[in-house]
Amino acid sequence: MAEFTMELNDEQKEVRDWLHGFAADVIRPAAAEWDEREETPWPVIQEAAKVGIYSLDFYAQQYFDATGLGIPMAMEELFWGDAGIALSIVGTGLAAVGVLANGTEEQIGTWIPQMYGDANDVKVAAFCSSEPDAGSDVASMRTRAVYDEAKDEWVINGTKTWATNGGIANVHVVVAVVDPDLGSKGHASFIIPPNTPGCSQGQKFKKHGIRASHTAEVVLDDVRVPGSCLLGGKEKLDERLARAREKARKGGERVKNAAMATFEASRPAVGAMAVGTARAAYEVALEYATRREQFGRPIIDNQGVAFQLADMRTRIDAARLLVWRASWMAVNGKPFTAAEGSMSKLFASETAKKVTAQAIQILGGNGYTREYPVERMHRDAAIYTIFEGTSEIQRLVIARTLSGMPIR
Ligand SMILES: Cc1cc2nc3c(=O)[nH]c(=O)nc-3n(C[C@H](O)[C@H](O)[C@H](O)COP(=O)(O)OP(=O)(O)OC[C@H]3O[C@@H](n4cnc5c(N)ncnc54)[C@H](O)[C@@H]3O)c2cc1C
Repeated sequence: MAEFTMELNDEQKEVRDWLHGFAADVIRPAAAEWDEREETPWPVIQEAAKVGIYSLDFYAQQYFDATGLGIPMAMEELFWGDAGIALSIVGTGLAAVGVLANGTEEQIGTWIPQMYGDANDVKVAAFCSSEPDAGSDVASMRTRAVYDEAKDEWVINGTKTWATNGGIANVHVVVAVVDPDLGSKGHASFIIPPNTPGCSQGQKFKKHGIRASHTAEVVLDDVRVPGSCLLGGKEKLDERLARAREKARKGGERVKNAAMATFEASRPAVGAMAVGTARAAYEVALEYATRREQFGRPIIDNQGVAFQLADMRTRIDAARLLVWRASWMAVNGKPFTAAEGSMSKLFASETAKKVTAQAIQILGGNGYTREYPVERMHRDAAIYTIFEGTSEIQRLVIARTLSGMPIR
């Protein structure tokens, strides 16, 4: 087990500086344009692929870094550049992690390369769990996967919503119900290979922020995929379902919705994205407050402004510490006895919303215009308290973990 450290090692510092250079030179200058266009920034993803940032190798290297700091450091730097573009770059990684975590070696080897494509022909992937009637309440998912034994195929029907890269992905990872009696324990994940008949994009959403990231419905109409597309394989699924049925029978109670806690390990990564956006807005505000003069002196000479900046920086550092702690715990298999993953996501995402709003205030009228980036950062920051579990759901997970009570 790696010791917890608050200091990046030399190799990590090198990676951080390299990522920061890409974020400053390539991502940030393109941010306003792709926000206005509300389209996937394919040329920027391609640039990231060329230098090796958009690749499984890079993602896996950070993901398996024993200090736990690889992913949060990478997320913070890329999202410091721009949240919408960065989400377009890392969205595939979120789907790839679903396969890395649950797939067989063969599935990992077959599908992950197709998620990324190559630098001359980049592809993206999507992870589709949310549905119109199953957002926070994952257990009420309706998309159904039924096994056709004669053909060794799964038949999938349903509508997914809010899928990042949904419909434009080369590979979709779809969560579906295989046993409706087991709640979220009766769910399984499937690969939908490229160009599978019946899998199509529904509505593309026009969003408040992270507009360079594509978000859409995915319609699954009698989609047939080979048995080999069930992540982890049929044998493992049957064993898991048998255990869940046995537990439900013995306990004599409805299987509880465990899905809320399932994401505990991935939540610090979202916290790190929020830290990146918050830090970006804070830096713009600090620089502006030093330069802008009113009443014959820089506005930072007023405590009313300077103290806001002090609070902003304090919150950002506190958020990063929570994120790094939770990330280290996740990588080193430490149990989240106080829902530390949720804590980090809750605090960092609320920090990003608050700090970006303060940045607008410090920039005054300029902060409210698209001439300056902080209004975009504020629109972007609003996503962090919503996706990967809303702030209310994080509080629910934390409160339930602390109390052991079924708080609703
Ligand atoms: C831009 C974007 C990208 C996304 N990307 C993906 C993706 O790639 N894949 C994917 O599967 N999903 C994705 N999502 C979906 C996201 O995870 C959901 O939007 C989120 O889980 C909330 O679900 P909901 O929108 O249905 O809100 P609801 O669950 O309807 O919640 C509405 C409000 O009620 C509150 N609430 C609900 N239940 C409770 C409760 N028990 N106690 C207190 N308050 C409660 C919530 O906190 C919220 O404030 C994305 C969403 C967005 C907006």
